[in-house]
Amino acid sequence: MLDKRKFYINGKWVDASTKNDFDVINPSDETVYAVISLGSQADTDFAVKAAKETLPSWSTSTKSERIALLERLYDIYERRMDDMAEAISMEMGAPIDLAKSSQATSGTKAIKEFIKQLKRFEFEEQLEDSDSRLIYEPKGVCALITPWNWPISQVALKVIPAIAAGCTMVLKPSEIAPLDSMIFAEMLDEAGCPAGVFNLVNGDGLGVGSQLTSHPDIDMISFTGSTRAGSLISHNAADDFKRVGLELGGKGANIVFADADKDAVIRGVKHCFNNTGQSCNAPTRMLVERSYYDKAVEIAKQTAATTKVDIASKQGKHIGPVVSQLQFDKIQALIQSGIDENATLVVGGTGKPDGLGTGYFVKPTVFSDVNNQMTIAQTEIFGPVLSMIPFDNEEEAIKIANDIPYGLTNYIQTQDQEKAKRISRKLLSGVVEVNGKSSASGAPFGGYKHSGIGRENGELGLKEFIEVKVVTGWS
Ligand code: NAD
Repeated sequence: MLDKRKFYINGKWVDASTKNDFDVINPSDETVYAVISLGSQADTDFAVKAAKETLPSWSTSTKSERIALLERLYDIYERRMDDMAEAISMEMGAPIDLAKSSQATSGTKAIKEFIKQLKRFEFEEQLEDSDSRLIYEPKGVCALITPWNWPISQVALKVIPAIAAGCTMVLKPSEIAPLDSMIFAEMLDEAGCPAGVFNLVNGDGLGVGSQLTSHPDIDMISFTGSTRAGSLISHNAADDFKRVGLELGGKGANIVFADADKDAVIRGVKHCFNNTGQSCNAPTRMLVERSYYDKAVEIAKQTAATTKVDIASKQGKHIGPVVSQLQFDKIQALIQSGIDENATLVVGGTGKPDGLGTGYFVKPTVFSDVNNQMTIAQTEIFGPVLSMIPFDNEEEAIKIANDIPYGLTNYIQTQDQEKAKRISRKLLSGVVEVNGKSSASGAPFGGYKHSGIGRENGELGLKEFIEVKVVTGWS
């Protein structure tokens, strides 16, 4: 068992002020993989103080100093890619091949992207035809709070632009999957990140999470996680007007027309089940044009039935366990609600797959005859569960897709380009993916409605961490 009870504060690995151990469980076999500490108010205060005291120097560092730091970090990360992938695979159950090909590499992708953005970003510019100068300054001391499902992706999409903007920060990663962040802290340390710029305190939401979001010396909170916690955080931050960026839940609609390409349904099911269904942008509601519906259900059934489930350390294209007993229980209850509310269980269902009694394994599950008011259609399940809903025409498809509190990512499958463009303008979501094309590398990511506030990645992701000042009389 790994002992990971220290925090990274002011450039050093330090002991927690009080003993409060927390087990990190390997979801594939339910054993304790590592032990961390949950921080106290004293640890939070210590880290915020370090970040606050470092702000004057880091906020005035040069662009080339920041680029050089990120370039060193990139090289170190590349060298330690396997460490990162193995930690993620053990802590949250991503199969090792997925951890290597997508989870761990999301970190270097973010570093590369923000080096590019920083190189072209001008921190000062003259407003056209005027004597007004715009000065872009770092927002200040940031609290960064992240989830377990794409752990290093979420961390990198916050830490890297914060560093690039000249902010200092305290990261509180998910207590369920904290080990990737601790490796990331080691990398930053090796890269020569100045003491106090980046600090890491482990803890839970009620402890370090709440302490950070109500701390008087925090200027900005960047949070990724559940809509429930996002709302609590916004309330907490309101008293002293902290800037709040929120990347929250989703319940994406995948609108499949009868003229979709032949792989559209298979692609949709696989995308829904990717990362064992634990993605905020998973297309979990498949809306299918009625004339194609029965065929689509049959294809989805075959795809789910041939989706293999296995432990995370095994190589291959299977899906792994879900992250915890808590998530397993929640998913089981939601599958049962689908049955109780008279959706048709096409494949999967409650219980564990054969031969996988230990570990938090869920059967790949497809429901048909779902209507959009059912619990399984309205709730973010965060497991490998697909709900299939028929529709009769374009207007109805749009209405169903938008009839949800969330608005993160929706999907359209049709070979009629004009129809896709028309519908994409009417969908209430931060991203609309057409025919399986994923977003470009610098594209902003974020949600409408209860899916969040603000955008991550690309230029907009950098600007989240920037304050704007106008100075007049600047000729
Ligand atoms: P969660 O909200 O339970 O926890 C996320 C983080 O917030 C953790 O670090 C947790 O300790 C902390 N936290 C919880 N309550 C808090 C509080 N009251 N104050 C401060 N911090 C608090 O979410 P999770 O279960 O870890 O992650 C899954 C959720 O994240 C899903 O809803 C998913 O859709 C969402 N998510 C969204 C995106 C996106 O970009 N929109 C990306 C990944 C995950």
